[in-house]
This record gives sequence, structure tokens and C-alpha cells, in this order.
Amino acid sequence: MSRFLNTKYADLEAYTPGEQPRDKQYIKLNTNESPYPPSPQVLAALTGQDLEDLRLYSDPEGTALREKLAALYGCQPGNVFLSNGSDDILNFAFMAFAQDGAVFPGLTYSFYPVFADLHKVPYATVPLKEDFTVDVEGLCGTGKFTVLANPNAPTGIALPLSEVEKILASNPDRVVVIDEAYVDFGGESAAGLIDQYDNLLVVMTYSKSRSMAGARLGFALASRPIIQDLEKIKYSTNPYNVNRLTLKLGEAAVDSDAYFRDNAKKIMATREKTTKALRALGFTLPDSKSNFLFVKKEGLDGGLLYQKLKDRGILIRHFSDPRIAQYNRVTVGTDEEMEAFLEAVKAVMAEEGLA
Ligand SMILES: *Cc1c(COP(=O)(O)O)cnc(C)c1O
Repeated sequence: MSRFLNTKYADLEAYTPGEQPRDKQYIKLNTNESPYPPSPQVLAALTGQDLEDLRLYSDPEGTALREKLAALYGCQPGNVFLSNGSDDILNFAFMAFAQDGAVFPGLTYSFYPVFADLHKVPYATVPLKEDFTVDVEGLCGTGKFTVLANPNAPTGIALPLSEVEKILASNPDRVVVIDEAYVDFGGESAAGLIDQYDNLLVVMTYSKSRSMAGARLGFALASRPIIQDLEKIKYSTNPYNVNRLTLKLGEAAVDSDAYFRDNAKKIMATREKTTKALRALGFTLPDSKSNFLFVKKEGLDGGLLYQKLKDRGILIRHFSDPRIAQYNRVTVGTDEEMEAFLEAVKAVMAEEGLA
């Protein structure tokens, strides 16, 4: 820390992103990226003209992409907000709507408490139930700004929409964010409820199911006044928050919606196969509706499994939080990648005298 840093950030503990190592080629199952490339339309979307046009600013309103997303999700362009990755929207939402505190589940996306701390928002957490499901009653009627990842991370468990609605209906005077980063892998989206609940903010991303993590594109769907509030924050921080190339790629991705939905199906099938295989090896894991598995094996230390797989060129995500230190989060890759993962797990188990 320099002696110049604003003292209000002195104690801030920043978010730790997953490893993006460059030392060698890994089978990368640690940050929930898609194993499949973006659609052929996305790959072909950029022309030399687009590169020449980089001298020009991007459309701050992202008009063309918002129109396409509105058509896809059955709302108006005014109900759509675009951002540089969906983390940007979460940040703006904490800035805009959490004046008197925030509530989220005790085990969830570890960025939420960082945003709260960044903006000096006091927050309460509602512990998950024993089986790792979200305690819906505990999130109801809090009178606070609420954030719920559905499906949740790192558990992968999804709440039915009827349960999400209970939270929305019980807290009409505060914004409820539903973070749907993983919804395309089998969850139920709340996107169709934005006309019914003016406190609902649905956040989505191109980073997972749409295979575009590196493009940094997120979007939100909500009632017009909520979108206007987000726009106010955006135009006060970074009006051109989505670059020209990414806007264009984002449009091509909407035009090829069926392509990524097909990939999501493949990933779900691989997920079910891998779940069965891990359970047969004695692992416990919740039923996942996401593109990752939250796995543990009695007698096999989570940190040790992580390190031994890394030594074998397979990267998974281990969390230092003592409550989940025996678990690992494993992104669902291709069938071939998951076979290699399972072979490596068996080898580690044999080494540890567990097979
Ligand atoms: C990956 C992820 C995001 C954000 O990703 P971006 O790349 O910033 O769009 C948001 N929420 C959850 C729960 C995630 O796992």
C-alpha cells in the first residue's frame, strides 16, 4: 500500500480471481469457462472495417445489441442494461441500491461481500441449510437489498422460480438481484417477471454459456426505472463501458442463440455423466444445475486433491474458506476432458490408498 491510498480502502480485501496460469497448458476446469468456442457467426463477425473503426468510440447506448437482447427475452430495449462483464452490474447495483445494507446467502459468489466492503455497505448473510440449499425463508422480508445467485455458486444448486418469487414478493421496497450467470445450464430464469416485480434486477453474462468470458460482456433485465438508475451510475463512471468489438460479437451471439443452447445441452449431458462417475468413486456432490460440480470425498483432503491434480496438469478450484476447504469446484469441460479428470482422480485415490 502506498502512503497515498484513501484510508477508506486501507482494510479492503480484494476479490481473488481464479488462476489463469501461463506456465503450461492445463486442462482448465477452474473458472467455469465453456470448453467450446463461440459460434461460427461470432468467429466471423469482425471485419477489417471493424478494426479501422476502433478509432471511434463505441455506441454508449449499445442500441443494436439491446434491441436484439430485448427481442430474445421478450422485453423492451429500455429494460436492458449492458456492461463490461456482469461483475460491473453487480458493482453498480451495490452502489445504487444498498444504502441501508445488503443480505445474501452465507455461501455464495465470493465477490458479493467484496462489493459490500468496497461501498461500505453493512451486510448480513443467511446460512445455507444443511444440504447446501438456500434458506428462502431467511431471505424473505428482510427489508434489505438482496442478492441471490440462482443457480448458486459454488454449490450449483438451483431454486425453483416459485421460491425466487417468494423473496421478491416479501421485499417490495428493496431491489432483489437474481444473478443468473449459470441459468442456461438447467435453471429457471426470472427474466419473465420483470413486468410483475418492479424491484427485480436479473443479471446475466456472456462469460459462461455463451463462451465469451474474454470479451467481457454482461447484461441486466429490469423495470425501466431500475435500468435508468444503473445508467446514471454508468454515465458517471464509464459511459463507453462496452467496446465496439464486444458489442458486435454480442450481436452475433444473439443471432446464433441456438448454437450456444446446443452447447449448454452437451455440457449438461457431460455433467450428468461425470456426476454419476464421481458418486461411483465415493464422492459426495449436490445435483448441479450449472456448468460445475461441487465435490468432496471423505478421507481425501480437498487441498491435496487440488494440488495433486494440478501436478498432473488439471486445474480445479479450491477455496481456502475453512467451511468448504474439503470441497473443490470442478468446471464441466468436454467429455474427453472429464475422462482425463476422472482418470487423474483415480490415480490420486490410488496413491492415497483409497482405491
Ligand atoms: C462468473 C460469474 C459472474 C460474472 O462474470 P462476468 O465474467 O463478470 O460476467 C457473476 N456471478 C457469478 C455467480 C459468476 O459465477
